[in-house]
Amino acid sequence: MSIAENLENIKASLPEHVTLVAVSKTKSDEEIMQAYHAGQRIFGENKVQEMTEKWEQLPKDIQWHMIGHVQRNKVKYMAPFVSLIHGVDSLRLLKEINKQANKFNRVIPCLLQMRIAEEETKFGLDALALEEILNSGPMNNVKIVGLMGMATFTKDIEQIKREFQQLKQYFGRLRESLPDIEILSMGMSGDYPLAIEEGSTMVRIGSSIFGVRNYL
Ligand SMILES: *Cc1c(COP(=O)(O)O)cnc(C)c1O
Repeated sequence: MSIAENLENIKASLPEHVTLVAVSKTKSDEEIMQAYHAGQRIFGENKVQEMTEKWEQLPKDIQWHMIGHVQRNKVKYMAPFVSLIHGVDSLRLLKEINKQANKFNRVIPCLLQMRIAEEETKFGLDALALEEILNSGPMNNVKIVGLMGMATFTKDIEQIKREFQQLKQYFGRLRESLPDIEILSMGMSGDYPLAIEEGSTMVRIGSSIFGVRNYL
């Protein structure tokens, strides 16, 4: 099936309150434009340099989401244009985003990434680090708009479900401090129907739209 057909099928299956981020990492401008012409405007990338190059080349009404792990020294390159940063996993990173956003007179929306997976390789905050961020002083150029998390890569549905439920609990905690936050970014190609059942409002889907990735 074509990219446009994949996109249509996925969009048709999503409840209205769930936002689709089309994960276009490693994919070409041509492939992204096929999704664009099918109506998609939100794309997710996991490398700052790749995202910046695509932003320069492609239509300016695309909203670029940074979904990967961010190094502090790369924040300045995306500060002029990034529309949502999903992977904020430290107070130091949040402060750097605040500083760079200030240079461009922007307020950059951010999601705090929580560590819910058992895998050591996955990044994210724990409950204590979340409190630390919520109790830090005001920052005028970032806005925390929700949470993001990645479940363990496993076939064990019950485990994935437990991890999503834990993220949902953190989300409840966050809403006690910030009542108007709305975004719970959880779910990828392999697990998004389950994530939606568990309360996701934003899914990040790559391979089910664009096909498998070839890492060179
Ligand atoms: C690559 C990636 C995705 C999309 O993965 P698929 O399995 O291709 O849907 C989602 N979230 C993050 C953080 C990613 O890095």
